[in-house]
Amino acid sequence: MCGIIGYIGFRKASEIILKGLKKLEYRGYDSAGIATIDSNIKIIKEAGKIEEIDKIKNFTSLQGNIGIGHTRWATHGGVNAENAHPHTDSQGKISLVHNGIIENFEELKKQLENKGHLFKSQTDTEIIAHLIEEELKNSKDFLEAFNRAIFKLSGSWSVVCIYEKENAIFLSRNGPPLIIGIGKGEMFCASDVPAVLEYTKEVIFLEDGDIAVLKKDSYEIF
Ligand code: GLU
Repeated sequence: MCGIIGYIGFRKASEIILKGLKKLEYRGYDSAGIATIDSNIKIIKEAGKIEEIDKIKNFTSLQGNIGIGHTRWATHGGVNAENAHPHTDSQGKISLVHNGIIENFEELKKQLENKGHLFKSQTDTEIIAHLIEEELKNSKDFLEAFNRAIFKLSGSWSVVCIYEKENAIFLSRNGPPLIIGIGKGEMFCASDVPAVLEYTKEVIFLEDGDIAVLKKDSYEIF
């Protein structure tokens, strides 16, 4: 099992996420990565240990107050930088991390390829970002597109997603654990409580089938 963390608020997101990822290391992993919104989405990801990746690539060079992070335990595709999370859509405007397995990803990937989508990784995860991108064309807003994409998945997942045009983090749980940490002027999400305990003790455990949206001063669960 691997780990997820997300942050939105007033602090430097990459610092909070890096600390959180280290607290989730006990869950095991083979790669790690962080994405933040710094006017657009910036990503650092690589195979290996968090400490080693950080020494070379400097996670906290990522600026911004919104971000997501991931430690991967590969199920689909080898252990390398391309397959490490976060993944993006074709334009790099949507970025997401995922724990679990998308069982119908081959079928969805074929449909997306027929619509012209090109993929950078061998993961089951990357198709989710492209699906959202596709659904955005027919949705009134990002939340609707996120919902519609999630509805097409089968398998198990915790997905945490950012979109460069939204000051928000979008969550979906169907299997692997996902919690929300409620702060003052900041919100967290993670696969386990220790990743957020330093900042808040107010925690909600999402249930299977939940979709949630975090903003810095509010959260909603659907
Ligand atoms: N199935 C995804 C992958 O292979 C996510 C694995 C995980 O839970 O870390 O990249």
